[in-house]
Amino acid sequence: MDNLIEVKHLSKSFGEHAVLKDIDFSVNKGEVICIIGSSGSGKSTLLRCINLLEKPSGGEIFYNGENILDDRHDIYKYRTKLGMVFQQFNLFNNYNVLDNCVIGQLKVLKRNREEAKEVALKYLKTVGMEQFVNAKPRQLSGGQKQRVAIARALSMEPDVMLFDEPTSALDPEMVGEVLKVMKELAGMGLTMLIVTHEMGFARDVADRVVFMDQGVIAEEGNPEDIFNNPAQERTREFLSRVL
Ligand code: ADP
Ligand code: MG
Repeated sequence: MDNLIEVKHLSKSFGEHAVLKDIDFSVNKGEVICIIGSSGSGKSTLLRCINLLEKPSGGEIFYNGENILDDRHDIYKYRTKLGMVFQQFNLFNNYNVLDNCVIGQLKVLKRNREEAKEVALKYLKTVGMEQFVNAKPRQLSGGQKQRVAIARALSMEPDVMLFDEPTSALDPEMVGEVLKVMKELAGMGLTMLIVTHEMGFARDVADRVVFMDQGVIAEEGNPEDIFNNPAQERTREFLSRVL
């Protein structure tokens, strides 16, 4: 399989607190990976190190075989290859839906407005939000906002999409519409790295499930094995609490 991201011996500490400890981890092209684990186990920090929102304390991160922690590497260009969707949407509240999806393309990718609009509309269609192009974020429900946030990230045409608990801030009745969109993206062959507490979704959509516990990857495998036949006691214990 084609290796897109490879993390080797990654560690991250905040002061004395070792939050990630010697993590080895890789993402293959086209793969959908769900990261599960208790709150505080380091899931967000792992994503934030991968997209360099946090500076790793040690270890290496390779992207298409290039060491992105090397000083000579262009991290701005690297970041454009990663789409990020957060729990709290982080839409620009002063811009309408279309401009939320256009602005990054203009500023970062230097696309012209016509092209950017076309691309934005394509992805707003993908997430079922094309009728809302003129709406402002405050006029949208949480589920609609998150679908726009996904379209905005897709509009940058990244190589991989990172999601950090994309449904955790949503009212229960809106979780389904966002998971449905994410499932469709998975079906389209997008490479996705998803931190989630939605175990049904992980079981259904993931090619691989990664269980994190206290800053390490305690276990990883296909959903079938992780959910039905975990090898580690701590995986069993976690699943018995959340399933
Ligand atoms: P998760 O996403 O699995 O809930 P996090 O990666 O957010 O876990 O956090 C893991 C640990 O790192 C927690 O104990 C958290 O308090 C700590 N942590 C995260 N970010 C920071 C930070 N910027 N400064 C200090 N501690 C942090
Ligand atoms: Mg988190």
